[in-house]
Amino acid sequence: MLFEQLEIIDPILKALKEEGYEKPTPIQQKAIPIILKGTDLLGCAQTGTGKTAAFAIPILQLLSAKKEQEKGARKIRAIIITPTRELAIQIDESFASYGRNLPLKHAVIFGGVSQASQVNQIRAGIDILVATPGRLIDLVSQGIIKLSHIELFVLDEADRMLDMGFIHDVQKILRIIPTERQSLFFSATMPPSIMQLASTILNNPEKVEVTPISSTAEKIQQEVFFCDAKLKRELLVHILENDKNDSILVFTRTKHGADKIVTYLSKKEIKAAAIHGNKSQNARQNALKNFKNKTIRVLIATDIAARGIDIDELAFVINYEIPNVPETYVHRIGRTGRAGASGKAISFCDIEERPYLKDIEKLISIKIPVVTEHPYPAQNLVPPVAEKPVKPNKKKKAAMAANKQQNSPNRKNNTSQAPKEERSNKKKWSWGGDRK
Ligand code: AMP
Repeated sequence: MLFEQLEIIDPILKALKEEGYEKPTPIQQKAIPIILKGTDLLGCAQTGTGKTAAFAIPILQLLSAKKEQEKGARKIRAIIITPTRELAIQIDESFASYGRNLPLKHAVIFGGVSQASQVNQIRAGIDILVATPGRLIDLVSQGIIKLSHIELFVLDEADRMLDMGFIHDVQKILRIIPTERQSLFFSATMPPSIMQLASTILNNPEKVEVTPISSTAEKIQQEVFFCDAKLKRELLVHILENDKNDSILVFTRTKHGADKIVTYLSKKEIKAAAIHGNKSQNARQNALKNFKNKTIRVLIATDIAARGIDIDELAFVINYEIPNVPETYVHRIGRTGRAGASGKAISFCDIEERPYLKDIEKLISIKIPVVTEHPYPAQNLVPPVAEKPVKPNKKKKAAMAANKQQNSPNRKNNTSQAPKEERSNKKKWSWGGDRK
């Protein structure tokens, strides 16, 4: 399915293209039509499924459709309540991205910081407000925020909201906003307490559910190879030479890492291409086309670039690096084994990645079998110990000054120069399409 088929207006379609989204995620496919027709929604979905866009896109569309009728100062017409500052910021950024070609204004408020700049933005007039509960109630009670024109109300991460003790704040907010409204309610889990809360908020809702992430791993054959980081590329070539699968998707954590593998494979006469955020839309589409028509055998992708790419019948994925967010692993391997096909996923794990592997095994409740028979077994069995900072004496200081050049920006290991995708890896996710 394409975004066009969801009857999304052009300015938003254009923004989605600019974001590099190629197709809607399962929650988006299901939720967007329901929200656009004005129905309340009960969504059971976790972060990482694309649920923010699932509500942000139709909210932007609904509000912009009514914009012409509005006269005078802007009034807050949509409010999104979310439990944490990080989520609030991410949601606000999503509204900025998807709404960049629309004349709607939005703002985000959260506690723990001065209210001054938040208040200025609100006073200037906004259509959409993203808020954590405490700061919202605070600004409402100061008379700075008025919620009497709310048409759309979103409660995000409701289960976390209750866990964090926000139930009374949520109830207070519900007493202030108009009863005549459209409400959207999202939660990763739906225990009775959450269903009870949902029933007080929603009116004849339609329910949309995406399968919990950890369950997808069961049908995929998984293996892990312990290997030193510096020999991973040799191991990759060994596997590619020994495996009969035509198309293999290799995940790397960084854009730079993806490019390095392509260069190495081409020296070994293995046809590969990389797709990542630094590649133009054209280059990405070409790589994907060549991968699909089997001109190239190996596609190397970062998690962010791999999102939304539609590759069917993929039999094999390789995790060249173990992701530090366990759900990312499940999203990656979810690209295989679709529609009952038997997928295979193998992971290269160096000594520093062992804790990530443990987290993954905990999430999926599976002990991933270790392949011991291979030509590049790990030699380095002790994790490197972080050096204690030592106060430099004069001699050392002079040596350090001489070395400064070496440590400056162009150095490969300089983390401040690490590609953006690497730095943001903790926050960002991908998913495995049909697994939902
Ligand atoms: P969320 O579940 O809302 O936290 O979204 C997770 C990530 O997926 C965010 O970084 C979004 O930018 C990204 N995303 C959302 N929808 C799509 C899509 N259709 N295609 C590609 N990426 C998406």
